[in-house]
Amino acid sequence: MPTLLITGANRGLGLEFVKHYAGAGWRVHACARQPEAPELTAVAGDVRRHKLEATDWGGIAALAQSLRGEAIDLLLANAGIAGQAAGDLGTIDPDVWAQTFLTNALAPVKLAEAFVEHVASSKLRLMIAITSRLGSISLNDGGGRYAYNASKSALNMGWKSLSVDLKGRGITCVVLHPGWVSTDMGGAQAPVTPPQSVASMTKVIAGLKAADSGRFFNFDGEALTY
Ligand code: NDP
Repeated sequence: MPTLLITGANRGLGLEFVKHYAGAGWRVHACARQPEAPELTAVAGDVRRHKLEATDWGGIAALAQSLRGEAIDLLLANAGIAGQAAGDLGTIDPDVWAQTFLTNALAPVKLAEAFVEHVASSKLRLMIAITSRLGSISLNDGGGRYAYNASKSALNMGWKSLSVDLKGRGITCVVLHPGWVSTDMGGAQAPVTPPQSVASMTKVIAGLKAADSGRFFNFDGEALTY
């Protein structure tokens, strides 16, 4: 069976992805700052939990080294932060920008960089980053949320570059918008539940072809513009 490596696995969409793929019989490397979270330890199947702070570059390298020789079919960079609740004009905070960029833009790219060989040696060879529609420059009609939106635009650019650089290794790199989902980040009023979002995204992932590398998709499979 294929193998997944995912960050932010202890709650929200990450936990739902773990449940989905472990339930489908995949081996799952579930990375989290809190790998002992009861919801994660309760997931049945071949789930290997790893303590990982997504912005700990040494920790990422050490994990990649400890899994050397193991094929990773699907690398899912999911961990993310919304930054400050407002983050609008008038409240722009350099520290919030820095932390949001480190977590949402740099950490996924560092993760991908560390696991190129693991993914290249797998059968499916997929790298997916969970981005946001709010990171689309062409679709921005709402303004605000400066740090979060810009960090997801930067993530999209990083992932696009990966798609170009890793084409020769046969790796398909795609960014996915999960919808507005009722997690801690999305809030209770969000219209899409984590199981609905993940059921839909995993269908999109299963249908990806090499020609899709570098593309940006909504959770329902609709193509989005950068
Ligand atoms: P949650 O806030 O529910 O979960 C976020 C996850 O990311 C947690 O597991 C959290 O771990 C982890 N995380 C955050 N920072 C770090 C870090 N520095 N190191 C390790 N783990 C970290 O959010 P969602 O599940 O909703 O979000 C998942 C992804 O989906 C994010 O990238 C988000 O931007 C994106 N997204 C979500 C939307 C929504 O409506 N929910 C809409 C669009 C995009 P911990 O418990 O340790 O904090």
